[in-house]
Amino acid sequence: MEVYASGSISVTQSDLPPVALFRPASVDDAIADLAEAPAPAAIFAGGTDFFAWLREGATPASLIWIDRIEEMKAVEQTADALVLGARLTHDEAWQHPALDAVPGLAASWRKIATVRIRRQATLGGNLMARRTRYELSILLTALGASARFAGPAGVTELPVDKIWDADLSAHPLLVSVSIPLAGAPAIDYERSLRPTVTQALCRRGSGVDATHRVVVATEFLRPWWTDAAAADAPETVFAKLPDDFHDPAVGRSYVAKAGAAFLRRQIARLGDPA
Ligand SMILES: Cc1cc2nc3c(=O)[nH]c(=O)nc-3n(C[C@H](O)[C@H](O)[C@H](O)COP(=O)(O)OP(=O)(O)OC[C@H]3O[C@@H](n4cnc5c(N)ncnc54)[C@H](O)[C@@H]3O)c2cc1C
Repeated sequence: MEVYASGSISVTQSDLPPVALFRPASVDDAIADLAEAPAPAAIFAGGTDFFAWLREGATPASLIWIDRIEEMKAVEQTADALVLGARLTHDEAWQHPALDAVPGLAASWRKIATVRIRRQATLGGNLMARRTRYELSILLTALGASARFAGPAGVTELPVDKIWDADLSAHPLLVSVSIPLAGAPAIDYERSLRPTVTQALCRRGSGVDATHRVVVATEFLRPWWTDAAAADAPETVFAKLPDDFHDPAVGRSYVAKAGAAFLRRQIARLGDPA
């Protein structure tokens, strides 16, 4: 334990002290386990980020391993929303036919990570690792998605872009995300300059009523987003980039110029369904 606490020695999974293991088969069981588990409890999904987190000094007293919770693999499409279970792997998600409800989403999602990681890593882990270099927060923020959390205090929902700073200690389990389908959203994702700058554009509506949500992020900065009329000039959109959106590697003006150039390309790629 002292080794973990000091942070001065890089630890591996074999240095993990004994922890209480819980392996719930349903969300309800997970909630009961979270109430009973010695604190601090950690949720374990695909495990692709988890050990990096331990090496950074995390010291869980118990693990809630969620690999048996089949309901968290569900994909549900209604007239209003596309709901994706948090335990879907990247590959399971982008290959699911329901993603056709949002043109461009499957093509954007399949760009993320490597073959090995895409098979193992989950949607929930990507968001809940809360690392700026991970990309689902960018796509899901562009789509205006909300996240559903459960825990001993019940269920709560919040916009995906609010996860970064949320205190989720009473509702720690991300169960699903919900993408609203009003206005027939379509998305384009530009990551040719990753990790320097990546950018998602979501269009809703068509013709003069079309709106855009633009989301830009860097390796070191959380996604920044803005809503604009589809007719707005890219430079006008990026004039709104906050002064403190100052990436330590490339600075603000580089991001604004790259973002405007990307936006021009993305508008052309999305076209107009009218
Ligand atoms: C080599 C490599 C390349 C990668 N490349 C990319 C890339 O190009 N783009 C990209 O976006 N990402 C990339 N990643 C990151 C990868 O997508 C994430 O590591 C992954 O999504 C985490 O999911 P997981 O299921 O493995 O999470 P875990 O490692 O199990 O957990 C990660 C964190 O999330 C928490 N957590 C997991 N599930 C839940 C849940 N349902 N509710 C609450 N908390 C939860 C855990 O407690 C932990 O804190 C890469 C990772 C690796 C190792």
